[in-house]
Amino acid sequence: MKRAFLLAHPAGHSISPAIHNAAFQHLDIDANYQALDVAPDRLAEVVERLRQADCLGANVTIPHKLAVMPLLDELSHAAEAIGAVNTIINQDGSLLGHNTDASGFLRALTEDAGLELQHKTALMLGAGGAARAVAYALLDAGVARLWVYNRSQEKAAALADAFAAQGKIQQLEQEGFEQVLKSCDLLINTTSVGMMHGGIDPHVSPLPEGLLPKKGFVCDIIYRPEQTRLLLGAKACGLLTQNGLPMLIYQAADAFSCWTGVAAPIDQMREAALKALRV
Ligand code: NAP
Repeated sequence: MKRAFLLAHPAGHSISPAIHNAAFQHLDIDANYQALDVAPDRLAEVVERLRQADCLGANVTIPHKLAVMPLLDELSHAAEAIGAVNTIINQDGSLLGHNTDASGFLRALTEDAGLELQHKTALMLGAGGAARAVAYALLDAGVARLWVYNRSQEKAAALADAFAAQGKIQQLEQEGFEQVLKSCDLLINTTSVGMMHGGIDPHVSPLPEGLLPKKGFVCDIIYRPEQTRLLLGAKACGLLTQNGLPMLIYQAADAFSCWTGVAAPIDQMREAALKALRV
């Protein structure tokens, strides 16, 4: 039996095992995916074991996405540009670090929502780890301009600087925020505001009350709760929306294909994710 893992800390709440094991089962692949709770001081030792012949690779999540990079033999262009690894592929004992958050995000918008991104203006809220993958994906897809707004303004400026060579990306400051927000074609929330987790209140929106784009599409990459305050408000105003579940499914699907060389069964993975989220 082949094996694949999730390296996380903590790992208990992840629905990735349900998603990947459903895919292995559906395609009759003799493999198993298991979430491992890996404390930071054990990361190097666990990564070393991924070189074993029966291991396909691993997914990597909080807090290891950056720390894992120097432990690998090679990085894909996406992983290097984003500055984070969410997928490790074992290639005959050599470990390749890749990032499928970006491709997953893009597939969610284009394949599920049917969006055409070229020449569009996008506003991204947040400048954390997920924001880097989203920025890479949007610039790669040819958006005309990407504005970045973040609570800590210096982080938005640093992110815009880091991706400046890839396309038109610019930090948005408080003044000008309302105008850009109202006229953008696509709004993406990559902050954790609205997420159901620990002490965070899921009933808050990352936008001030009553403020929404006038047209276009609103994407919140949060998937728990299924409908954030931001998405509920956008829907009520007649805007088209997408939550973070399609991104989660497609990033898993792309990792699955890297490990197995076959197309992932999206419908079965989505069904398994929805079932796991209901538990
Ligand atoms: P992160 O690196 O910790 O970044 C968090 C971001 O949220 C930062 O921009 C931070 O701003 C902002 N933020 C946090 N609390 C805030 C508040 N009270 N007010 C305003 N801004 C606040 O986290 P991440 O890894 O990027 O993840 C962000 C979200 O994306 C999480 O909800 C995560 O579940 C989700 N996500 C979804 C997927 C998917 O597949 N759907 C994948 C990855 C992540 P500061 O810089 O000012 O602190």
